[in-house]
Amino acid sequence: MYQPVPQGYYPPGGPPLPPRHHPRGLSPFGMPARHPWEIPLLVVVIMLTSVAYLLALLMLVVEVVADPVVDERGEEVSGSVLTSPYVLLLLFAPVLLWAGRGMNYARMRINGVKMSPTQFPEGYRLVQEAAARFGMAKVPDAYVVLGNGQINAFASGHGFRRFVVVYSDLFEIGGAAREPDALAFIIGHEVGHIAAGHVSYWRQLGMFVAPWLPLLGSSLIRAQEYTADNHGFCNRHLGAPGAMATLAAGKYLNTDVGFDEMADRAAQEKGGFVLLVNAMSSHPVLTWRMWALRDRSKPGPMFWRPSAPQPAMIPPPGDYPLNAAPPALPPKA
Ligand SMILES: [Zn+2]
Repeated sequence: MYQPVPQGYYPPGGPPLPPRHHPRGLSPFGMPARHPWEIPLLVVVIMLTSVAYLLALLMLVVEVVADPVVDERGEEVSGSVLTSPYVLLLLFAPVLLWAGRGMNYARMRINGVKMSPTQFPEGYRLVQEAAARFGMAKVPDAYVVLGNGQINAFASGHGFRRFVVVYSDLFEIGGAAREPDALAFIIGHEVGHIAAGHVSYWRQLGMFVAPWLPLLGSSLIRAQEYTADNHGFCNRHLGAPGAMATLAAGKYLNTDVGFDEMADRAAQEKGGFVLLVNAMSSHPVLTWRMWALRDRSKPGPMFWRPSAPQPAMIPPPGDYPLNAAPPALPPKA
């Protein structure tokens, strides 16, 4: 039972701790937990990326140092490793990534509507709240860009700058008459990507070959998405069903989506192809994602379909014994 603390008085043990001093977990209180698969997968991907960089460098050195290969007529055999797009991509990865991030940030700065106290003030406030909730020293910039019907949002950075971008079609759900909690969840998710370090240059350089690592790369991204969802949930857990419903059915039909009905299907839809589609996805499949946001007792399912709770674990409704006849209505007067 909650006991209000009289003003000027703290109970024994001092004032209550702010959220950032709580242990990390899956509840809406305290700090959001990282998905347990994220760091192990990240280590493996960074090691494989490092091997790829070393191989590309080795090929470059061999190319420069070794004598040219000649055929029997004494002509140089063409076929430099430097014509391979993969080797070139790896050799120039630091510059390509830096330039790509810089151009992405520039695109937002010159096309995007920047959230401010006067432009989309509710979004501006939500970003500030999320940054404070996660104990971040700096509030990221935030932009709304034209969605053209696409429901999307992302977070990125360049240099020391960090920013979130929400497509207009997704941002629309936040209007006062719609689902402001859902927008708070989405913004918490995106700011969470920044808080969890997912958009750092060095991390992205270390994950450079992830798109070419089947299953492994997508699994790492999936674990990151669960981590970001944990942030969104901590930021505004009430918005999780609305956010997922919007991702599932769009900004108009979201209110018709039954969150529980869809989350239940995570355990019902079976088969190898279900596992394969999830394993190859960069985001957890929606039904599993909803399941993870509803069952906060464990981290989101990464590879195996979640199983439905045993019937014995479901308490009977109300105080009535199961299979009992409903109570009779009082006779009409
Ligand atoms: Zn995300």
